[in-house]
Amino acid sequence: MELNNNTYQLQGIDLTQIAEEFGTPVYVYDADKIISQLQSLKDAFSTQKLKIKYAAKSLTNISVLKLMKKHGAGVDVVSIQEARLAMKAGFTPDEILFTPNCVSFAELQQGVEMGLIINIDNISILEQFGHTYHDSIPCCVRLNPHIMAGGNAKISTGHGDSKFGISIYQMAHLLRVVKTNNIHVKGLHMHTGSDILDAEVFLKMADILFDVANDFPDLEFIDFGSGFKVAYKPNDITTDVKELGLKLGNAFDKFCESYGRRLEMWFEPGKYLVSESGYFLVKANVIKTTPATVFVGVDSGLNHLIRPMMYDAHHEIFNVSNPSGIKRVYSVVGYICETDTFGWDRKLNEVREGDVLAIKNAGAYGFSMASNYNSRYRPAEVLVYEGKARLIRQRETMDDILKNQIEIDI
Ligand SMILES: *Cc1c(COP(=O)(O)O)cnc(C)c1O
Repeated sequence: MELNNNTYQLQGIDLTQIAEEFGTPVYVYDADKIISQLQSLKDAFSTQKLKIKYAAKSLTNISVLKLMKKHGAGVDVVSIQEARLAMKAGFTPDEILFTPNCVSFAELQQGVEMGLIINIDNISILEQFGHTYHDSIPCCVRLNPHIMAGGNAKISTGHGDSKFGISIYQMAHLLRVVKTNNIHVKGLHMHTGSDILDAEVFLKMADILFDVANDFPDLEFIDFGSGFKVAYKPNDITTDVKELGLKLGNAFDKFCESYGRRLEMWFEPGKYLVSESGYFLVKANVIKTTPATVFVGVDSGLNHLIRPMMYDAHHEIFNVSNPSGIKRVYSVVGYICETDTFGWDRKLNEVREGDVLAIKNAGAYGFSMASNYNSRYRPAEVLVYEGKARLIRQRETMDDILKNQIEIDI
């Protein structure tokens, strides 16, 4: 995003113009930013046999999936429906890693029937898998290294209390199940959660994986999950992918040498690829002065962007309509009948009723976590692609609210 001639622009298009053309609230994604993030990963790991499996749940729009496909990414899905969407977007089943958690064996079997790469995160499921398929269908296993990664327990998935993965302390049991059922394990996987601060956590995790990997002679890849951190606040530390590329690359080279074969290195970033591409445009409905603060009440809320309320996530906000207005202190809140605060004590260029505000870092876990709470419509989505703002999802209408409701005689 650039500030040109006192207007905020994406690829030369004014954000105010996008708000006018498509209405608010609207999610806007900059395709160039997605492509450059993808490229930075490819560059950082250019000496490796690298595969990037985009975590589709972070932003699941079919046009974004197509963009990922076009630029060489595979995809990581967590449900059969996401897999179907990915296939609709052009991914072949062998490019799709299916990493569900706590799903029934029946759903896993659907994944097998579709030809997806199956990632198993529970020993009881692995037993059923082995009993049913033996070595006819290879699989990947998701391990939990019990590393506390990231600052927030809600988004940290590798620690002791986490429900994700098979504990590395269960290795003996895991190996017994694999051996007894003759299971073909072709991949090992770890995903310790979002927001890992530094390369050291990755390296620690990698050491554990390398250790374990020696017990699996048929590996084709090791999947290091995600955890790439992006900046939400101006001075936030972000994952230095170049440094990670060097350090993890070196460690992986050494491992492959001792393992006897060069394996593929996989990652499955969501946030890293799409977070910064996204701007959520909302309109200031009201300015409301109370004894405590000046509220800006906007035409959205936790129904459209729940991260600030669910994770205490900080999203920068700026006034698109008045870039040169004097700075004043505001608290930006939603219109939902809940306490849905987007941000306390934000210094914004003076906000007038009707101004358009942009909420940053809205690409990941924004629309994909939106709901119809308060019977509000979910927003439209726009992709700025090759210099044009293109609608990639219509705003919902009353028909969508009523769609599956059945009115009985009462
Ligand atoms: C959600 C998820 C990711 C993506 O995490 P980000 O923090 O968005 O990069 C990767 N792998 C798995 C298994 C996930 O569930």
